[in-house]
Amino acid sequence: MTSSRDDSDEFGAHVSTAGGLATAPARAREIESTSLQLFTKQPTRWAEPVVDPALALAFGEERDTHQIRVAGSHDSYLINLATPKSELWERSYQSFRKELARCTALGLQFLVTHPGNATDGDDASGIARNAEGVTRALEEVEGCTRVLLELTAGGGTTVGGSFEKLAAILEQVPDELQKRLGVCFDTCHAYSAGYDLVGDYDGVWASFDDALGLERLGLFHLNDSKNPFASRKDRHEHLGEGSLGVEPFRRIVLDPRFLGIPKILETPKESDPVGNDLKNLGLLRSFRRQG
Ligand SMILES: [Zn+2]
Ligand SMILES: [Zn+2]
Repeated sequence: MTSSRDDSDEFGAHVSTAGGLATAPARAREIESTSLQLFTKQPTRWAEPVVDPALALAFGEERDTHQIRVAGSHDSYLINLATPKSELWERSYQSFRKELARCTALGLQFLVTHPGNATDGDDASGIARNAEGVTRALEEVEGCTRVLLELTAGGGTTVGGSFEKLAAILEQVPDELQKRLGVCFDTCHAYSAGYDLVGDYDGVWASFDDALGLERLGLFHLNDSKNPFASRKDRHEHLGEGSLGVEPFRRIVLDPRFLGIPKILETPKESDPVGNDLKNLGLLRSFRRQG
């Protein structure tokens, strides 16, 4: 057990739940973090486990023990709430609703969701279908978990690859649900989608503010990219070792507008999850110490 953790820092990582959901808080502690992201189920399977009261209690106890301030989930990769295929949409909707129910039962603060693909190329209809799914789930599952639409890398027929598309989804959700909605900004996805965090950092954030409003920003995923700018490809790299390099991460960490917004790594774990996460988190923490 480490004693060097700074309990005020907002840096964390997606952690494994091997051995059960209640093992996640200890894994965050191992990497000296008070923030974590997890999968509440296997993200490549349709099976939908239920979080029973005993599991919720065990998770809460571990969370308390390890003083985890922020915990959230990333939804299944199979969910596509923008699909034109009605059977897949319904299956996706049920999966998303059950995901939100698990998050609520666990007391998670956020649920990151990929906006999906309009595979017939009709973006406007895909956006409307996504907004409908998010709206229904928020109406049917009451609670505090905030749904965060993640900016995607912009490949294929995704309806999540630009600030304007995310804004179009958010606009179609009723006002009374807006406080339970926000955006997750993934640096790898943004750079791949054509937002030049390296060459035009200020311009990217001006665009975000214009389209969405900075107050919508609920979470960062801090990942470098294995692919070049505007590649529309999504492959994460260790911070500072990809096409983004070190500087955008330094600027985000030191940007006063983003202080306190949770910042989660989804960088490669390889054969040493703890060592690799500590290395990437160490870079972020060094910026903060240098000021
Ligand atoms: Zn994601
Ligand atoms: Zn991400």
